[in-house]
Amino acid sequence: MAEFVDSRSKELLYVVHRGKFAGWRKELLLQKLTNEIEDFLICQCCKGLLRDARLFENIGKQELRCAVCIPADGLVTRRPTQLIMHQENVDNKLISCPLKLSGCEWTGPINGAVCHLDKCGLFPMLCPLECINKAGLRIRIERRLVSNHKIQSCRNREVICDFCSVKVKACQINSHFNVCDEFPISCPNECGTELPRKTRDSHLESECPLQIVACVYQEYGCEKRMERRYVAKHERDAIHSHFKLTMKNTRKRISELEDENAAKDLKIQKLEEVTTNLTPTGMVETKIQGVQRKMQNNEESFTKPFCVGMYKLGGKIIWADNGFVSCILYILKGESDDSLSWPFRYEFKVIILNQDDRDDNFVESNRISEDFVQSNPLIFQKPIQEYNKGLPFQLITHADILNPKYTRDNYLHLSIHVKQLLS
Ligand SMILES: [Zn+2]
Ligand SMILES: [Zn+2]
Ligand SMILES: [Zn+2]
Ligand SMILES: [Zn+2]
Ligand SMILES: [Zn+2]
Ligand SMILES: [Zn+2]
Repeated sequence: MAEFVDSRSKELLYVVHRGKFAGWRKELLLQKLTNEIEDFLICQCCKGLLRDARLFENIGKQELRCAVCIPADGLVTRRPTQLIMHQENVDNKLISCPLKLSGCEWTGPINGAVCHLDKCGLFPMLCPLECINKAGLRIRIERRLVSNHKIQSCRNREVICDFCSVKVKACQINSHFNVCDEFPISCPNECGTELPRKTRDSHLESECPLQIVACVYQEYGCEKRMERRYVAKHERDAIHSHFKLTMKNTRKRISELEDENAAKDLKIQKLEEVTTNLTPTGMVETKIQGVQRKMQNNEESFTKPFCVGMYKLGGKIIWADNGFVSCILYILKGESDDSLSWPFRYEFKVIILNQDDRDDNFVESNRISEDFVQSNPLIFQKPIQEYNKGLPFQLITHADILNPKYTRDNYLHLSIHVKQLLS
């Protein structure tokens, strides 16, 4: 006999006895049993109609029992031919469908009941989509209704969101609507617009006539806030005050820019100072006695050597040069010459101190042009001898240098200042 996959079939057909599905249910019989033959068709143990009948020795007494009604440790059971025929009598008894009360009109022999329940339209099937009820139990549906249930009413059937076309389970469609981007919601300001949820923010930001917005002149100081629909009117009404605010703001901005510029100028100036301080400079000072005599004797005087950064220089004064006092600057051989860059470009200044007014010294400045540097390598290149060829220049006339503001008591203060030119 076929076994049922679904235990519900067993419940409908068999008596439950001591926790087991035992004999056939008597109440399914079309005709009640007559008393005389009843005992032979009924299991002595479960009181159902015999199912797979066996003979059982119960304390010396023989009993007819269903196979499942014999204890596991029961005595040897036998199944003589007589007993097989007896079971056939039971199996050929006519019964109605266990689902008669639900409306099934099938009748047939007991041994056809299993086949029938496999097809019976009223049999309660488990939902193939495994839906459950509120108690968490799987739902059963009459077989004839299953295909409709699957497409029309099952909680687990797949449905398509009308708004965004996503597939979801029917039981989840409402929670999906709560998050669906395309689901229509009404504007929270109640302006009467229905809009897909995803456009809510942009509606409020740029369209909704009831959204509270700030005046566009807010950054100039207008503090008016109003519903968007009143913005145009406000802008018409407030033309004058907006103009005044704009002017005030422009003036403020100009002065801020001026301040910023001043701050930047200061910064540039400071940077320039720093740069200047990085530029190597050097100077030598000398106090000369007997100026007049030196000019008459056509003498020359040397300064002490001095450094400009790591470059080493020296100066010579020629006292009588055709009515002028002249100077010659020399680059001297130095210890660091190998690590320095050449040619050495510089500007220089010779100062003769005004002994009356120090703010009015005699100053001779000279910046040496690149052309001159390039065409006189013997003056500006790295010294090969103890000193290079000198750079001569006329300084001041004899008449001027004897002016008492420069030469006093036959004394003269002279200094030479040299600054490297960074290329
Ligand atoms: Zn039984
Ligand atoms: Zn049926
Ligand atoms: Zn279902
Ligand atoms: Zn959706
Ligand atoms: Zn709105
Ligand atoms: Zn305004």
